[in-house]
Amino acid sequence: MCIHDSPCYNNEESPNKKPRVGNANVEGDSSSKMGSTDSTEKAPSPVVPLVLDGGVGHMLRRLGIKIEGKVGSQERFLGVAMANLQQPELVKKTHSAYIQAGARVLTTNNYSCVPRCLKESGSMGREQIQACIHAAGDCAKAAKEESGLQGVQIAGVLPPLGPSYRPDLVPEKEELEQDYAFIAEAIEPYADVLLCETMSLVREGRAAALAASKTGKPVWVAWTLSDEADGTLRSGETIEEAVRSCADIPNIEAMLLNCCSPQSVTVAMPRLRAALPDSVQIGGYANGFVIENAKMVDAYQKDLTPAAYRKIAEGWADSGATMIGGCCGVFPEHIAELASPKCE
Ligand SMILES: [Zn+2]
Repeated sequence: MCIHDSPCYNNEESPNKKPRVGNANVEGDSSSKMGSTDSTEKAPSPVVPLVLDGGVGHMLRRLGIKIEGKVGSQERFLGVAMANLQQPELVKKTHSAYIQAGARVLTTNNYSCVPRCLKESGSMGREQIQACIHAAGDCAKAAKEESGLQGVQIAGVLPPLGPSYRPDLVPEKEELEQDYAFIAEAIEPYADVLLCETMSLVREGRAAALAASKTGKPVWVAWTLSDEADGTLRSGETIEEAVRSCADIPNIEAMLLNCCSPQSVTVAMPRLRAALPDSVQIGGYANGFVIENAKMVDAYQKDLTPAAYRKIAEGWADSGATMIGGCCGVFPEHIAELASPKCE
């Protein structure tokens, strides 16, 4: 579906009820959806996808925070984590830029506020890590309040506990349970929903979703996919296995695909839709990194213009995505393009 060629619906229902790219105000519904197989249950019917924000860490980099080192490594995002405490005005500015671009979901900047990462900064104890997570929540909340807009939601992040894209380094069960409970409890007071993101391994996503679900808030689970664009997670497990692993967890409102190439998201989106009950929303927010030899490198794709990203996202909407945004290397200008109704 190309909305550039479509008539404007002017916020009325689309004739074919298919989602299109633009912006929506989709309210959360925290009831359990994953286990439902009741086809008579009313499915959410947002005509226009909810626009999420873009990459927070990489926007902070644009504002002067250092991101250095191997893509996915923990030390790389240390400066981004510490910005919550040391330069909160930049974190707030990042969130505000995404709201102004049209995003209606703010992702909290605590992706790297995990015990293993913050150890790199010296001897940070649990209390200081908690303070860093709270500071991230404060920044998102301040930007939301300052915007004065209704319908801006804060997604409190439960990130990987080790390096990103490394399913082989996901901690064992006990550490997963302990640290996800700690992070969920710390970010929950600031969050409208909890977002378990960049999950590369089924048992990692399940552990994060379980901890998030225990808070009683709606839960979104976002899986990161292989750069081979073959519909598998980075662990090699399939998207269907990922979906099944969370089937008994209450409060899961959405499943998404994130922090991987747009092409990987495009391939997996129809499979994600087919694997889930209609009552669970799906979405995507991809990276803008250059891929070389099926590996992401630390450079932004020059040809991933806002218009090009929108075109890709329109394909996701055609596959049923009702939540669309960006991850690393996708910026406010891309989000503005997604949020634009393009109605003349
Ligand atoms: Zn990312």
